[in-house]
Amino acid sequence: MEYFEPNFLGEALVLLERFAPTARLLAGGTRLGPVLRAHPETACALVNLKRIVDLKGVTVQSSHLRIAPLVTAAELAHNATIQSHAPALAAAAGSMGARQLQGLATVGGNVCAVDASSDLSTALLACDASLEFLSPAGTVVMTLEHYLSRQPPQPEPCEILIGIVLPLRPARGAYARFTIRQAFERAIVCAACSRDPSDPQRSLRVAVGGVGPVPVRVRVAEEFLSESIPTAETCRQAAQLAAAGCVPPADGRGSTEYRRHLAAVLIERVVAEAVGGEHCA
Ligand SMILES: Cc1cc2nc3c(=O)[nH]c(=O)nc-3n(C[C@H](O)[C@H](O)[C@H](O)COP(=O)(O)OP(=O)(O)OC[C@H]3O[C@@H](n4cnc5c(N)ncnc54)[C@H](O)[C@@H]3O)c2cc1C
Repeated sequence: MEYFEPNFLGEALVLLERFAPTARLLAGGTRLGPVLRAHPETACALVNLKRIVDLKGVTVQSSHLRIAPLVTAAELAHNATIQSHAPALAAAAGSMGARQLQGLATVGGNVCAVDASSDLSTALLACDASLEFLSPAGTVVMTLEHYLSRQPPQPEPCEILIGIVLPLRPARGAYARFTIRQAFERAIVCAACSRDPSDPQRSLRVAVGGVGPVPVRVRVAEEFLSESIPTAETCRQAAQLAAAGCVPPADGRGSTEYRRHLAAVLIERVVAEAVGGEHCA
């Protein structure tokens, strides 16, 4: 397998095209590393993105917050702009796996290798995130929700995720996850909620992970809450409605009923926390 460390995005794109479809982009390597150790024959070239400055940092633009894909979970958790504009994302990043993992795992890798209960992707859904991809055909922007509906939900062989864009607005938000062991284990079920206090009802977003192949937005809860006065009881009802609409696949970590129960508990918790304080009685 050939190994490259390009300095510029253009170089990375040329390498991807040259070795397509078996070139692999490397970010933190927490997901790709184990896969390549087990199946090195699946890649003929490894393109490490770590030298590309354009893929690093959090920037505030006129109406958006732009998160570059190489930003790590640890950086997200401690970034003051993320804490005030996307608190659900900061909380998700701080709760993900073990400390060592948070220092390596990138937000881009989390989105590009999304799984059922990816912490950052679940929180980003609740934060109304859009994704910017670069390919030889140019730049494409799509909502995270649209990306997650792709079959399979992953970049095309010559696409590089170059930015994650969030609306720039102060937000209240919350994130909760359930797992048996905190360290080194993905959430069984996780939930996120975000809202803009200046437009509290229409801006409310709820997302849940661990109830299907990828995290999903829970529109039934959002719609119910947009038409109700937020109280502890309406938060509970919204969570019950949301969970009733989920049919999580059973696996060794939880039956359908168990995951549905967890979804109800976690959704109620995050919604109550996000609308709480001012309204929730
Ligand atoms: C022990 C263990 C525990 C874990 N715990 C958690 C957890 O608690 N929560 C959680 O959400 N996840 C968890 N994960 C999964 C993983 O760590 C995360 O999804 C992480 O964010 C992946 O990021 P990375 O930078 O390591 O990605 P990498 O492993 O470098 O890449 C992952 C995939 O994304 C592609 N990719 C990366 N960047 C780009 C880009 N810019 N454009 C296009 N493609 C790109 C790579 O080619 C690769 O296919 C865990 C994994 C392990 C091994």
